[in-house]
Formats: sequence, C-alpha cells, structure tokens
Amino acid sequence: MTPFPERLTDRYRRFKHRHFEPNIARYEELATYGQAPDVMIVSCCDSRVDPETIFSAMPGELFVMRNVANLIPPFETGGTYHGVSAAIEFAVLNLRVKHLVIMGHSGCGGVKAALDREAVRETQGQFITKWMSMLESARLAVLAGHQGASHKDMETALEKEGIKTSLQNLRTFPFLAELEGKGRIALHGAYFDIATGQLSALNESTGDFCAL
Ligand SMILES: [Zn+2]
Repeated sequence: MTPFPERLTDRYRRFKHRHFEPNIARYEELATYGQAPDVMIVSCCDSRVDPETIFSAMPGELFVMRNVANLIPPFETGGTYHGVSAAIEFAVLNLRVKHLVIMGHSGCGGVKAALDREAVRETQGQFITKWMSMLESARLAVLAGHQGASHKDMETALEKEGIKTSLQNLRTFPFLAELEGKGRIALHGAYFDIATGQLSALNESTGDFCAL
C-alpha cells in the first residue's frame, strides 16, 4: 500500500501544533454548537485561489464550494446528482447565509478550455467540455465583443463574464430569487488577480469590477 504522503503528514502536524491547538476553544465550540457561517463563497478548484486564505477566514466563517471555473448551473430538477445545487440549497435554506459570493480569477484553466473549445475538444476528457459548455453564450458574446483583442484579454473577459453568468443562474433558483427580493440574501461577484493579489468586486449596475 502506498503510504500517506509524508509532506501532507508534516503539514497536518504543523497545522495541529500552530493553528488547532492555539484555537482549540473555537473548535470545541464549533463541534458542540455546529457551524453558522453567514457567507458562502463559490470559487474555482484552482490551487492558487483559496477563499479561506484570501479572506483570512477562521474555521466556521465561510461556507465554501469549489468547482472547475466557479460555475453555477441553472436551476433544473432533472438528472440525479446535483452537487452544486445541494450545496446552495443547504447554505441558503439551512444555514441562511446572508451573502453569496461568486469569486472568479485570472488564468483560469477551465475558462481557457471554454474559450478554446474547438482546440480542446479532442484532448479533454468527457466531463470538462460538457461542464464548460455552460459558458457557451458568454463565450459567443466575448468573441463578438472583442474582435481583434488578444487571447489573454478575451480570457479575462470570459472569466468576468462567467461570474455574471453564474449570478444569472443563481437567480433561476426560485428560493434564491425570492430571498434576494426580500433583501434576506445578497449576491455578489468578485474577481481575484493572482499575479497582483488584487480582488475586485462586481458592480452589477455598471457591469464593471472595482478594486477593493
Ligand atoms: Zn479556475
């Protein structure tokens, strides 16, 4: 049997010693009373875009879901295993989070795959192409609106457009649309630039991302 990776064991022991033990009261409280985060973050699986790190979060503070390219599929009841919808339902209806943030990022491999759809179709597995097809309308809009732009600029545009698509799709969930209408939850878009560390928030009135 392959042993558990030593590097992970070392890192875990470091966490236990430096983080868990000094905060043991907080962990005991969370274990006893459960979690009550008031913010949900949807982020990419990308190893460079960790919400807990970016928002200096302690355990219990953020309800995080990560998937390829931080996407929310539209509401639909067909199919069987709705991992994204289940996480949203739990966060919104059970935990009653007050803020839901879709956080995209620069250099997103999933978005790049969506943009280069024709090129990657032969090389990607059976899941990525289908998953990223959620961005097809956004992709066509970016291609139409950025003729002559560099590939890099189009990637950035689609990364940001994808955040708006996910916000639109969130609002197709009837319970979310209702709660947002009542002012009991706020939906937000954010974009993290890995090279500069700059986080920007989406202004949905103007469609622009503004540096925080
Ligand atoms: Zn990504």
